Amino acid sequence: MIKQEEKPTFTDSAKVDNIKKFIMEFKDKSGNYKYLDRIDNLSSSNLMIEIFDLFDFQRKSTNVFEIWEFFMKQTNEAIQLSKRAIKEIYEARFGSKDESLDIEILVDESKLEISVSDAIKDKFVNKLISLQARVSGESEVRVRITKGIWVCKNGHTTEQLEKPSSCPTLNCNHRDLELDKTRSKFEHFRNIYLKDFSNVDHNSDTLICEAQGDLIDSVKVGETVRVTGFISIENNKNKFFNILHLLNIKKVNEISYQITDSEKEIFKEWTSQPSYWDKLISSIAPNIHNSKLMKASFLLAFVGGTRWTKNQRYWINVLVVGDSGTAKSKIAEWGKTVLPDVSWVSSNSGSPKGLFAGQKEQIDGEKILEAGPMITSSGRGMLCIDEFVRSKEIFSIFYSPMETGVFNSATVGGHADLPCETPLYATGNPKKSNKWDENKSILENLDVVERSMLSRFDLIVIAKEEENSKERKSIAKSILDSDDEIKTNSNIIDEVSLVKLLLCAKTFNPTLTQKAKEVIAETFEDIYSKKNSEESEKFAETNYRFVGTMARIILAISKLHFHQETTEEDITLGHSLVKEMYAQRGLNTNLANTYIDRITQLIFEILKESKTSMTDLEIHTALFSKFPEKLDTLRNDIGKEGCSRSKNKRWRSIMDSVEDSVMVEVQQKHPRKLCWLHDQRTLD
Ligand SMILES: [Zn+2]
Repeated sequence: MIKQEEKPTFTDSAKVDNIKKFIMEFKDKSGNYKYLDRIDNLSSSNLMIEIFDLFDFQRKSTNVFEIWEFFMKQTNEAIQLSKRAIKEIYEARFGSKDESLDIEILVDESKLEISVSDAIKDKFVNKLISLQARVSGESEVRVRITKGIWVCKNGHTTEQLEKPSSCPTLNCNHRDLELDKTRSKFEHFRNIYLKDFSNVDHNSDTLICEAQGDLIDSVKVGETVRVTGFISIENNKNKFFNILHLLNIKKVNEISYQITDSEKEIFKEWTSQPSYWDKLISSIAPNIHNSKLMKASFLLAFVGGTRWTKNQRYWINVLVVGDSGTAKSKIAEWGKTVLPDVSWVSSNSGSPKGLFAGQKEQIDGEKILEAGPMITSSGRGMLCIDEFVRSKEIFSIFYSPMETGVFNSATVGGHADLPCETPLYATGNPKKSNKWDENKSILENLDVVERSMLSRFDLIVIAKEEENSKERKSIAKSILDSDDEIKTNSNIIDEVSLVKLLLCAKTFNPTLTQKAKEVIAETFEDIYSKKNSEESEKFAETNYRFVGTMARIILAISKLHFHQETTEEDITLGHSLVKEMYAQRGLNTNLANTYIDRITQLIFEILKESKTSMTDLEIHTALFSKFPEKLDTLRNDIGKEGCSRSKNKRWRSIMDSVEDSVMVEVQQKHPRKLCWLHDQRTLD
């Protein structure tokens, strides 16, 4: 019979000796004694052990003791014995016995990567694990006794963790012993509650973690973290829980999507292509046909504007209303799956406080302030709320935060203002018959939304059912598009690049130029002056907030083009978006002194006078010969790339705008020829 090889067993002191061996003998690539140096230069109470060093040491060692396995599989014991090992090394090097030396051992990470739901099961107990999750709540800092010295009135001392009911010394029996606080030892800790990120609903699994030492203050509620530690089963009020004892915490928001410099260069190059904007919009929820205004609005809300003064809001709130059965919610669903930090909730799925923050009993029975998605997405994500307009009862809690970006947690038993600079993408169906009545205002259609609530939304989009049969067929077909068909569509940016590009765009902070300010002021005046008209109810929520809205929109577009300041194209794109939004409600706005406006007016003059239909080249040539006094304006406004719509972005925008006019007709497509419709008889 072959005798099975037995694994040698080690006493505690043998294990300590082996840990000491690792600490004293391990050399890094440059030949330095990494851990001895750390002990000699101990600046905080932490000593970080890197798991790969243990692996490396074990691999090269002829020693039978498997130190890496020891740390991976009996982590708690490894940590406790490491503390002893380090104390002994410290004493040997510095002579004195330092009783107060209390070192926390940290371990950078584990190769064993699990999820929150794995961590609360029994499989990983006692093992070193790493996991990525979102901090959903935290307790106050708490203190517990690790060594209790109790003194009676006669001066007898007793050492035990809990207070003795009477002095155990013979013939004493004093009651009411007091804790000797100087000789007792205490441990400070904070419980941190983690959830898997995909779960925003409040019934998802929670993992309780315990942080000590410097780790106590290293995270905030709402952050995404990668933690490393070991799990033990602990008793709390006669209930048992898996507790993750933290050995390291890293914030991961910045590293989860690494964007290289060469990728940045590629994106930058994309942003200058004439078809970029259309391609970008099409890449938002590519399974949804058309709905360009809705897609653009969703995109702008995700990216946001920038703060041009301290008191101005930079995030963009979007409301999409209209016929039921349109893609209003589908786009949010797409966002939740593809974009980072996008949550999607139904307005009646939880308490309104659950969306911000509220006291919530945790699985261990502790009641702590738990943050909801409006707080956890602040400054980086976005919250989509389905059927927002039907839930009047939640309006009151949204009023102030939507504008100020601050949620006062005093109302829910907290002690601080919590940030909630979170863009909202909200949807709503019309109250009656689920059909949008074009002759009625948004307020009338929705019936419940107050005007002041409407004015908190920057963009209000009406999603209508398609009335054109050909378009309806296209929509039906697009629903049937497979993921592969979308992936191979060259007019769509692939998901990974799209996410990276958007995160990259978010890092830009363009400024508002003087020109942008002028256009915003003119557009505001244009719309405001129409408020007295018959149709005024349709845009009655427009007030001075509109000025901020338009600034945010232009700034967001500028970010999406990687610009340092708003260019004339950004301004024009922003303007046409606003124009389209108001056109949905039957309100026509002017182009307000943009380059498109200036050149379009000149082209109209040319087309009006022309006896024949004209190609782009003929129009371009005519502009320069007919308006010699405007040469500088023409050169500036049209740009150097000539009259090719595929090469010159500006020319393309100008000609799009010319063709938008009801007075202009496209007479021929190849090559394109335009004519003015004022008097058909004069044309050939
Ligand atoms: Zn006593």
